[in-house]
Amino acid sequence: MPRPISVLITAGATREYLDPVRFLSNASSGLMGYLIAETAKNNKTAVTLISGPGNLPPPPGVKIVRVVSALEMFKKAVGLFPKTDIFIAAAAVSDFRPAKISKRKIRKSRGPAVLKLLPNPDILHEFGMRAGKSGSGPSVLAGFALESGNILKNAILKLRRKNLDLIAANPPGSISSGNTSGFIIERDGTVHRIKKMNKKRFARILWGMIKETYAKKTDPRRIKARGETA
Ligand code: C5P
Repeated sequence: MPRPISVLITAGATREYLDPVRFLSNASSGLMGYLIAETAKNNKTAVTLISGPGNLPPPPGVKIVRVVSALEMFKKAVGLFPKTDIFIAAAAVSDFRPAKISKRKIRKSRGPAVLKLLPNPDILHEFGMRAGKSGSGPSVLAGFALESGNILKNAILKLRRKNLDLIAANPPGSISSGNTSGFIIERDGTVHRIKKMNKKRFARILWGMIKETYAKKTDPRRIKARGETA
């Protein structure tokens, strides 16, 4: 029996601790990533979900890797890069982390007036740069863009900058909500407008496009026609 397609998904918000009790994060629930994981699993793929902290139960049959910070998520994802056929970045990764994590709770009286931050690595960008260069790794990369203005233009820029096959662009109202809307944009510039719908339905539509892209990119006849090896 051929091995199942392996799908790696990141989901949820990361937490960037500045002391044992306080952290920087965002309102992402992780629902979108979990629903894509469920949909992909129902499609007979082998799914690994790297998830930030949250209360959602993992979909049955999905391998869950729990992480807290962006750095942890980055390390786990990069470790799985060679074994991944399809990568879907649905996590709301914190862009910055405190430069220093205090071992003790920071006292109000001595609290920093200015919080020094360092940039976190961009997991999806890293995958995009590695894809194509190495003989292994995902054939399809998909990401999300949560945009408050110029949704389409900014999402297309992100698609190009991160070397993606597909990007789903949503307005900020999608975060922590059961519904979403926006666009799905393909590498060739095709734009699909998505009306407001529940995230389960959105997950099915997105997964359908991802699967189709994977089938096109890995079809042995097409690979042969491009003069590449499978
Ligand atoms: O650039 P921006 O953060 O808006 O890009 C969003 C996309 O990139 C999402 O798919 C998100 O999961 C992914 N991302 C990532 N690692 C980061 C930041 C974003 O994988 N550090």
